[in-house]
Amino acid sequence: MQTIAERLKTTYARIDQATAQANRPLKSVQILAVSKTKPVSDIRLAYEAGQRLFGENYIQEGVEKVQALCELADIEWHMIGPVQSNKTRLVAQNFAWVQSLDRIKIARRLHEQRPDELPPLNVCIQVNIDDESSKSGVTAAQLPELVEAIEGYDRLCLRGLMAIPKATTDTAQQHQTLTQLAELFSQYHTKLSNFDTLSVGMSGDLEVAIAHGSHMVRVGTAIFGARNP
Ligand SMILES: *Cc1c(COP(=O)(O)O)cnc(C)c1O
Repeated sequence: MQTIAERLKTTYARIDQATAQANRPLKSVQILAVSKTKPVSDIRLAYEAGQRLFGENYIQEGVEKVQALCELADIEWHMIGPVQSNKTRLVAQNFAWVQSLDRIKIARRLHEQRPDELPPLNVCIQVNIDDESSKSGVTAAQLPELVEAIEGYDRLCLRGLMAIPKATTDTAQQHQTLTQLAELFSQYHTKLSNFDTLSVGMSGDLEVAIAHGSHMVRVGTAIFGARNP
């Protein structure tokens, strides 16, 4: 069995190859290591192998890990799962980023509850790019209103868009979805100064996401192995 360090290395090699193939600058794509369901000891191994960005989906589980690893001060923690309004304070206190923002009410609470001694909370808006009823995220039509609201909150820093495209083997469909997402991203990237992060691509589709301009791929299985039940 491969170790976490070996899997990370393989993942970085995949990214470097995809980045080169897309004629994009080397190191222009970051890895968010998605550690949901995995123990703190696995996160430590990835950290020792050089990984610094970690993503969690469940607030309670995420906060426990943030606190257990608080001595590793240069870890950057990203919340990538649903944020319920009664949990916003925990998120505002413990995370550096929230990538799954899709409601004004949640944005306002995160803004109000972000502790003064911390820098503004980085946020990405989650876009439901395939309009799937099962998925969170705003539609393209709902995006402007949420962008405008967040821009009014000085304890939030709007960094970009996050999406989870529909899993598909239809490459034409995949290309169309990712092209549409990249166009949405670029509209705001040209207008807003900190809007620099398109978060798309996971273990199975990171190459095609990088070909379509992703700046951050969120990788779980390829680094940590199959998820624990
Ligand atoms: C679990 C998860 C990932 C990682 O998925 P893998 O296929 O295991 O790489 C990425 N993004 C989100 C939002 C997730 O929930």
